[in-house]
Amino acid sequence: MSFVENQSDKNISDPQDAFPAASKELLQSIVEANQGYVSSFGEKAKLVGAPRRKTAILTCMDARMDPAKFLGLREGDAHVIRNAGGRASEDVIRSLVVSAKLMGTTDWFVIHHTSCGMQAHTDDEIRHMLGLDDDAEHHHADTRWRHVWKSARTPAHIEWMTFGDLAQSIVDDVQRIRVHPLVPPSVRIYGYIYHIHHGTLEPVAEANRLGAPSA
Ligand SMILES: [Zn+2]
Repeated sequence: MSFVENQSDKNISDPQDAFPAASKELLQSIVEANQGYVSSFGEKAKLVGAPRRKTAILTCMDARMDPAKFLGLREGDAHVIRNAGGRASEDVIRSLVVSAKLMGTTDWFVIHHTSCGMQAHTDDEIRHMLGLDDDAEHHHADTRWRHVWKSARTPAHIEWMTFGDLAQSIVDDVQRIRVHPLVPPSVRIYGYIYHIHHGTLEPVAEANRLGAPSA
């Protein structure tokens, strides 16, 4: 029996059965919110995949930030790529290349923010806390971390992409994107700090200099 057939034996049309009460409440509120969204979906059905404003945004997954709101975006306007820190990982660059080549974006924004969790720890600290090294006395005491132990399936190395200096992290990411051989030289790349306590965007001059197009 295949995995898919196995799944079909269960009542996967009602995933709430598989979760505790608090999760059911959350799931219910999300499903209801979606039903409300669908009821006023209207003209969005006519949108195409290529972003109307030819823009891609790379930013942090921080729950306090809503790029659609602080950048005035609507459905269909832009690609928004988010991860921990808003860092320019290889996978982000994969998405950006697709964004430009297949979807025609011409302007990319790298936006990191104040009070970011990825500035609060170093890569070594995260490795210690996860128990990914042999330094047992630094392994995290919190029980949420304890189930993570090294095994044959544990990745030998993960680049957590923490950072020390906020502005420098934006400069580094703009530069990393700019010099990538698959990134079109004509794309304009901008670097900004988002201030988490008042919502202001602040340009990072050095990042914007590095991100200028060369063609
Ligand atoms: Zn963050």
